[in-house]
Amino acid sequence: MPKRKRKRRGLLIVVSGPSGVGKSTVVRRLLRQNKNITLSISATTRSPRPGESDGQQYYFVLPEEFDKMVKAGDFLEWAKVHGSCYGTPLKAVKSALSQGCDVVCEVDVQGAEAIKKIVEARKLIVTTVFVFLIPPSVDILAFRLKKRKTENAQVVNYRLRAAIDELQVMEKYDYIVVNDRVESAAEKIKAIINVEKERMLIN
Ligand code: ADP
Ligand code: 5GP
Repeated sequence: MPKRKRKRRGLLIVVSGPSGVGKSTVVRRLLRQNKNITLSISATTRSPRPGESDGQQYYFVLPEEFDKMVKAGDFLEWAKVHGSCYGTPLKAVKSALSQGCDVVCEVDVQGAEAIKKIVEARKLIVTTVFVFLIPPSVDILAFRLKKRKTENAQVVNYRLRAAIDELQVMEKYDYIVVNDRVESAAEKIKAIINVEKERMLIN
């Protein structure tokens, strides 16, 4: 009997962790090495940093525009993070998943919690895996936040205090990945994706 080919569904990979831990850096590396994985590009009200451009790292929108998108139900989840609003566009995520693409959402801890609730309530039928990125130590996190030079000392200190709180929720995630070296952290996430995709085939 010829085997019936299973319809391939996309996996939603939620990568979270404190600000400055290296989420964007590691996710960028993961995507560079795995062209079949799609990044969900969030909308944000924060201003672009040097080197960032609209539609690449984020869709940079005005607060009024963001509010309209919230009211229109355009976001899978959205949150206020460190004074700016960030949201994951629902339509793009759904469309990529339905085409069988695996999608990475890089969100803060509130965003990950919101996605978990939505999926558990079956408001979005999708297989998800939640990955929490942690720094090798708090000192290294402080060093990385300062090294990025994108925030002033006051904001860095605020983000560091927030990070210590955010690290308390890590046991709620499916996997914890230490971002020691970018390459190895990206490889660990790829290995997690492989395992989860195998499980999708079994279930
Ligand atoms: P996040 O997206 O979590 O806020 P970033 O990806 O912007 O964090 O990384 C914060 C800073 O740390 C950047 O300057 C980045 O180059 C650096 N960084 C990220 N991962 C590593 C790593 N494994 N080793 C050394 N520096 C890193
Ligand atoms: P940054 O301004 O440093 O790019 O991002 C600040 C924080 O917002 C990071 O922790 C990042 O992961 C998070 N973030 C980015 N996009 C989204 C999103 O769409 N939703 C939520 N909840 N957080 C996001």
